[in-house]
Amino acid sequence: MSSSPQRLPSFIGIDLSGRKLRAAIVNAEGAIGERREEPLAADHLVEQVNNVVKNLRVGHSEIAAAGIAIPGLVNRQTDRVVASRDLPSSVRDDLHSEFAKTTGLRIELENDANAAAYGEYIAGSGRGSRDMFYITIGEGIGGAIILGGKLWTGASGFAGEVGHITIDTEGAECECGNTGCLETVASSPNIVRRANERLNRDSTSSLSKLGLNKNFTAADLVHEAKNGDDFSLMMIERTGRYIGTGVASIINLLNIERIVMGGEVMEAGKLILDPIIHEAKRRAFQPCFEATQIITGTLGGDAAAIGAAMLARDSTAR
Ligand SMILES: [Zn+2]
Repeated sequence: MSSSPQRLPSFIGIDLSGRKLRAAIVNAEGAIGERREEPLAADHLVEQVNNVVKNLRVGHSEIAAAGIAIPGLVNRQTDRVVASRDLPSSVRDDLHSEFAKTTGLRIELENDANAAAYGEYIAGSGRGSRDMFYITIGEGIGGAIILGGKLWTGASGFAGEVGHITIDTEGAECECGNTGCLETVASSPNIVRRANERLNRDSTSSLSKLGLNKNFTAADLVHEAKNGDDFSLMMIERTGRYIGTGVASIINLLNIERIVMGGEVMEAGKLILDPIIHEAKRRAFQPCFEATQIITGTLGGDAAAIGAAMLARDSTAR
């Protein structure tokens, strides 16, 4: 519990996605120390973040800045949250200056997928690469691009929205207004929707354990697939093929060195990674495909908090 001024600076990383608040102290190399996790109090966000920061700072005078990963789009020119499915509009207005004012810390706000990408790049599966694309598959599907070691955020901070690549021109309506986006078939809620539709119309799939659980989640489906349930395995395999179709487009567009896949759906590991790679290989331009490594992330649910902290680290060096 030393608060010696000689201690190297550390950073706080906070992830507000998945209706949870995860916060941690992260050192300059991206290693996690003390951590906190609690349900997200979306209507009292500023107070909640301030309390968590205060608690984490006790005995840690070396905290130099905090990074906060937001489940939504962050305009990097204005630092405003311009869209978010999880945060009520009443708290979005000027989160950046409110967080800075209440905590007294330098604050970096970033989209959660961008933050997770940077976390994997610095401390996870992206290490050793120069250019990397990151895809997270969970409640929604997000993506991010890292070029030459830097997050490439686009003209206003929204680059990498791979979840809204069109996979099926006749597909279901997406919350973005388009139809047939990758997210409409491969995000966690949409995997559950597709599984339910199939369970209802196909009597042989009633043998699946999933049919006994009326309110199963994508995590349950992943679990049953790992236990060898044929129906769940088929759903994971088909989902992997949809994702692989999107991955092929990324490969063709960017000729990128490495693609790192994260998010709860990727907890299925090889069961989903293999069909993703298989489909990407089938559809991508072959010379591009051969130059790309497709692997799963290693930081799990810590990726966004670590990445946010590392973006805060970088901001103090500017
Ligand atoms: Zn969409």
